[in-house]
Amino acid sequence: MRLRPPETEDTEPEPGPPVHRRPQRVFSGYVIDLDGTVYLGDQPLPGAVETLARIRAAGSRLVFLTNNPLRSAAGYAERLGGFGIEAAEREVVTPLGVLTGYLTAHQRGAGVLTIAEPLVDQTLRAAGIAVTTEPASAGVVVVSFDRTFDYAKLLRAFHAVRGHGAAIVATNPDPFCPTPDGGLPDCAAMLAAVEACTGARAEAVLGKPGPQMAAEVRARLGVRPTEAAMVGDRILTDVAMSRTLRMTSVLVLSGATTASEVAGSDVRPDYVIDGLGDLLPGPQPQPASPWEP
Ligand SMILES: [Mg+2]
Repeated sequence: MRLRPPETEDTEPEPGPPVHRRPQRVFSGYVIDLDGTVYLGDQPLPGAVETLARIRAAGSRLVFLTNNPLRSAAGYAERLGGFGIEAAEREVVTPLGVLTGYLTAHQRGAGVLTIAEPLVDQTLRAAGIAVTTEPASAGVVVVSFDRTFDYAKLLRAFHAVRGHGAAIVATNPDPFCPTPDGGLPDCAAMLAAVEACTGARAEAVLGKPGPQMAAEVRARLGVRPTEAAMVGDRILTDVAMSRTLRMTSVLVLSGATTASEVAGSDVRPDYVIDGLGDLLPGPQPQPASPWEP
C-alpha cells in the first residue's frame, strides 16, 4: 500500500538495530493503540489490564488511539470498560471524530457519498454533514473500513469521482485489521479499489500517522512530547505517529508486527517489547533474538 509519510521533519531512521528492551521510566502521558496492543478480538492482551491500571495509579495521563472506524469513541470506552479498563469517552481518539472535523473545515457544505458501514453515515449526519447515495450530488467520497463493501458501492464512488469530480477522503491507511483469525481487509483495500478505477488520489488519509489525528492527540493528552510515549503494534502507523508527535515510541509484538519485520524495517522504534505487560519499569527481557546486536 502507499502510506502517506507523516508530516514531520524528523523522519530519518536512527542508526543501528532496534533494541528489544522495556522503558525504565514512567512517562507523564501515554498514547495507547487499541487493536493488537490492548486487545485482540474479544480478549484483552496479557498484562494490558494490569499495566493500564498501574499507569492510572501513577497519575499519568492516557489517550487511547485507534485507526479502526467501526466504533464511536463512546463505543470504545464502553468496550474497554467491559475488559475492566477504565476509559472515558474524551480519552479515546478515533478516525470518525477526526473525519467530521476535517470535512467541516475543508469540505464545508459538500455532499458526502460513503464507502463505509452505517456508523460513518450516522456520525456524519449527527455532525450536520449531508450524506448522499447520488454520485452527482457528492462533492466528497469518504472511504472507510467497510465489511459490507461491494461492486455497487464501488460503482457509485467511481461515478462520483470520475464523472463528477468528487474528492476522496479516507478514514485510515491500514491495509488490514489484526484479529485472532488472521485479520480483516481494512480501509487501504477499499481506497486502492477507488483509486485504481478512477485514477484519482485521496486528498487526505486521516487516522494515524497523519497530522489531523496528531493534532487531536496533542490537544487531548496535554503533556509535553518529551514526557510522553506512544505505544502500538504497527511500524507504519504507530511508530510513524510517535514521530509525527515527537514522542518516545514503544512497539509491541502482540499484534500486527513480528520481530523479523522490526529487523527489516528502516523505521526504528525507541523500544520493542512483547506486550503491554513490559511497558512499565521492571526486569529487562532476556530471550536472545536473532536481530539483537
Ligand atoms: Mg494496532
